[in-house]
Amino acid sequence: MASREWTKHRRLLFLALLFCGFFIVSGVYALLKEDGKMGQSVMDQTALIMAGTDQEKTGEKAQIAIKVEQEALSLVAVGDVMLGRKIDDVMRTKGMGYPFLKTAPLLGQADIAFANLETPLFNQGNPSPEKEILFRGQPEYAQALSQAGFDVVSLANNHALDYGIRALSQTMTLLHGSGISTVGGGKNTDEARQPVIINEKGMSIAFLAYCKIEDITELHQQISKTKGGQGIPGIAPLIMEEIKKDIQKAKEKADIVIISLHWGGEYQDHPKNEQREIAHQLIDAGANVILGHHPHTIQGLEWYQGGLIAYSLGNFVFDQNQNARTQEGLLLHLKMQEAALRQAEVFPIYINQGQPEVAEGEKGAGIMKRTAYLSEQLGTQVRIKDGKGLIMPGDS
Ligand SMILES: [Zn+2]
Repeated sequence: MASREWTKHRRLLFLALLFCGFFIVSGVYALLKEDGKMGQSVMDQTALIMAGTDQEKTGEKAQIAIKVEQEALSLVAVGDVMLGRKIDDVMRTKGMGYPFLKTAPLLGQADIAFANLETPLFNQGNPSPEKEILFRGQPEYAQALSQAGFDVVSLANNHALDYGIRALSQTMTLLHGSGISTVGGGKNTDEARQPVIINEKGMSIAFLAYCKIEDITELHQQISKTKGGQGIPGIAPLIMEEIKKDIQKAKEKADIVIISLHWGGEYQDHPKNEQREIAHQLIDAGANVILGHHPHTIQGLEWYQGGLIAYSLGNFVFDQNQNARTQEGLLLHLKMQEAALRQAEVFPIYINQGQPEVAEGEKGAGIMKRTAYLSEQLGTQVRIKDGKGLIMPGDS
């Protein structure tokens, strides 16, 4: 009896243990499952926070964003992009996308993004013997420019030939291979004068680019006299009769003609009278927009007969920091519709250690105030709102 009782007790104990075991196992399982859920919800939360951060970023972007409209074509233009010297060092150490990290979203949003590329990108060629300041960038930087969102760059500047025609040719090949059109450079000046035509949103936009730096123009004129203009390594010099012909030809193929001009006095706040005359003549000849660069500082904007002249957009990617103004620039955003220029806005740019960003707060306000003042000197009103400047065709 005792042993039977004992057996019964053992059975009960066994059942109880089994029961408890079941509860413990299912409890632990439930806890683990819950934990998993918690893990999941932590992940969800992180995703939400990240999405929130993204939204916040987008919010930030929304403030600095360009308004891209379905029916309007948006074009973004910046000034001098120099990828040699200290910028080359920064790109080697911090990654070749580093200079464009903060502005690529803006450049990428536009249908067309333009810059003046002030540096040949190559591993061939020899330094130009007479020049003191020489710029060179790595061949892979063509890819960096493409990833940053640039569609077309001007090569008509005083540094494109720093390492000769072979380096210029290689630069062009690399850029074309990265999906970027080049304007103002070629095997000879005839090729350099050919327009780049980009079709977007039912409109065709022609780009032409010229360099008005005395030694380049003189060099061109000397060689043209001896060689008849053929076979000259080439960037297009600013020669009025030729540009006017080029505008006429471009007008036959395109709705809008944009002219990039590398010109003006370095570190000057105001364009020379001669530049204003040239700009007006080019608009009168049919150009719609003039994009100026080379002074390394911002100059004013001017509406003239329905055309827009940006005398100098200043630096965009550059290592100059000898004075605050060389660390500032403008990002110009143009809206075009039904084959006409409808609106222009400018964003203040500050170059922080080789990396341009849209300047905010006091810095941004200072750049915009100066841009408005310099434009007013040219008879054009820049309305400052939400940290950027708006210029309407009637504001002159
Ligand atoms: Zn220059």
